[in-house]
Amino acid sequence: MSHSPVTVILFDIDGTLLDLKGAGRRAFVRSIQAVFGWPDDIRYVSFAGNTDLNVLAQVMAAHGRELVETDALRFFRHLPGEMDRALAEPGGDRIIYPGVRDLLERLAALPEVVLALVTGNIEACARLKLREFNLHNHFVLGAFGNEHADRGRIAGLALDRALAALPRGRSVRARYLVGDTPFDIAAARSIGAVSIAVATGSFSIAQLHAAGADHVLPDLGDTGQVLRLLGLG
Ligand SMILES: [Mg+2]
Repeated sequence: MSHSPVTVILFDIDGTLLDLKGAGRRAFVRSIQAVFGWPDDIRYVSFAGNTDLNVLAQVMAAHGRELVETDALRFFRHLPGEMDRALAEPGGDRIIYPGVRDLLERLAALPEVVLALVTGNIEACARLKLREFNLHNHFVLGAFGNEHADRGRIAGLALDRALAALPRGRSVRARYLVGDTPFDIAAARSIGAVSIAVATGSFSIAQLHAAGADHVLPDLGDTGQVLRLLGLG
C-alpha cells in the first residue's frame, strides 16, 4: 500500500480557485506606469488563460517594443509589490469559489495525491493570491507565468516537477489539469492530462465543452463528484 500509484492534479488559480476582482489587472497597470512610464489601461489585454509573460509581450508590442529579458526582469521584480498593495486595498468582493477549500483540504490529506500549480501568474503573485485565502500551503510545486509565455509549456514544467518529486519507485496512475479556460484544456491535452473545466471563470459550460474538455462542471462545489471524476471517490 505504501507503493500505490500516484495521482497528479494540476490546478490553475484565477477563475478556477478564486477571483480577486481585478486586483491583478490593477497591479499590472500600475507596474507598467512605474517601470516604463506608460499610462496604459491595457483594455486590449485579456487575462483569462493568459500568462504574465505573454501579457507583458502584448503590452510591449502595443508600445512598439519587443519584449527583452532585462525589461521582463525589471517588470516582474516590481509587480509583486504592486500586487501586495492592490490586495491590501479595501473594498472589492474577492471570492474563493464554492467547494475549493474543502476539495484542496481533502486532496492534500491523501498520500497518493500530488498537487501542483499551473498558472499564468509569476510565482510571487500566485503565492500572494493563494495567501489571501490561506490556500498557499497546499501547493509546494508548480510552474509559473514568468517561465514561459505558452501555457502548455508551463503545464509541462509543472508536470515534470511533480514527477521529479515522486518518492522513489512510485508510478503515476493518472494526471489531471483543472482550469477554467480553453487555454487550460489545450494545455492539459498537450501534456496528456485529463482536463476538468469549471465554468466559474469567463467561459460557459457550453464553451468549455466546445473546447474539448474531458469533463465540465459548473464549479467545484460538489466535492464528492469532483473526487469521483479524479478517480479518488
Ligand atoms: Mg484561469
